Amino acid sequence: MEEVVIVGGGLAGLSAAVDLVEDEDTNVTVLEKNGHLGGRAGNKIDPVEEDPVPIAPHIYVSFYDELKSFFSKIGSEDAIYWEDGQICDVYYEGEFSTVKTGHLKPPWYLASLFANYPLFSTREMLNNFKVGSKLYLLDEDDIEDLDDTTVEEFLNDLGASKGVIDKFYRLICLALLNAPVEKCSAAEFCRLMKNFMKTDGRDWGYAKGGLGDVYTENAREFIEEHGGEVRMKTAVEEIKFESEEVTGLELETGEYVEPDQIISTVPPTVLRDILPEEQMETEFFSHLENFHGVPYYSAFACLMVR
Ligand SMILES: Cc1cc2nc3c(=O)[nH]c(=O)nc-3n(C[C@H](O)[C@H](O)[C@H](O)COP(=O)(O)OP(=O)(O)OC[C@H]3O[C@@H](n4cnc5c(N)ncnc54)[C@H](O)[C@@H]3O)c2cc1C
Repeated sequence: MEEVVIVGGGLAGLSAAVDLVEDEDTNVTVLEKNGHLGGRAGNKIDPVEEDPVPIAPHIYVSFYDELKSFFSKIGSEDAIYWEDGQICDVYYEGEFSTVKTGHLKPPWYLASLFANYPLFSTREMLNNFKVGSKLYLLDEDDIEDLDDTTVEEFLNDLGASKGVIDKFYRLICLALLNAPVEKCSAAEFCRLMKNFMKTDGRDWGYAKGGLGDVYTENAREFIEEHGGEVRMKTAVEEIKFESEEVTGLELETGEYVEPDQIISTVPPTVLRDILPEEQMETEFFSHLENFHGVPYYSAFACLMVR
């Protein structure tokens, strides 16, 4: 029997565990530091009322194939309400405009979005068609080469006008990649745009209930029914190494575990805190220093039935 320990009970940890427990030769344990599951796609517990409060409104996109198969496996496929097309309000220079994508199949729904984008002048609309069609023609090799290029440099090279960048791509980068065009990786940006152009990339979905309630319990039940274990309030204090080989995990409880495989699903900014200092100097882990958190303000109304 292969012993696998997954560090973190967020979306990545739970979905990895759900896949792995199906293999009868694998024994899976999830270690989660909090007393609730879901991580950044879950609830925070209000310290005063002790109510579960969803962390953010969370938009799901219909090209999230792995997420859809995870939700369907655990019986949460009905937890998301799929909006036919995409609708959002954009606030720019004091004015709100509603953006709709219509009912065309990808990538044509994007053409209709570009043509009807309320903030563009005719000149900007035509300019954006040129940029959009160049984006459509990029392949994965072209995209790989863009990792050290910023979105701003990339769009300037494609001939995007300032208005097109400010009114459209700046918004996409901030809202969906959480980074400004001056800093965002052009490769990540292109992958996102290519996904929107895919056959199944058109619709947006919203969780029908509190984010932490729509999948975390079903995932935990699925894991336990298949012989796995989910341990909450069990933080990993340090990942132990012998030279460059991972050997085990030291837990906050004082336990030491030595599974055959360890899967870390904690964010990079957390991973570097649980690595021994000398590992941060190795070539493999040194890049973790380059990750920084980004400020994210999210205001939403949540109606709860008590
Ligand atoms: C405000 C906000 C809005 C967002 N909106 C969207 C959106 O609209 N659409 C979208 O697709 N994505 C959105 N995201 C991103 C999405 O939530 C994340 O990409 C996703 O939840 C990350 O899941 P994860 O499992 O990789 O990481 P996490 O959710 O961070 O999971 C890591 C888990 O590890 C646990 N952990 C940490 N340290 C330890 C330790 N030492 N030992 C054991 N466990 C530990 C944590 O408690 C956590 O449960 C949003 C994120 C935020 C914060």
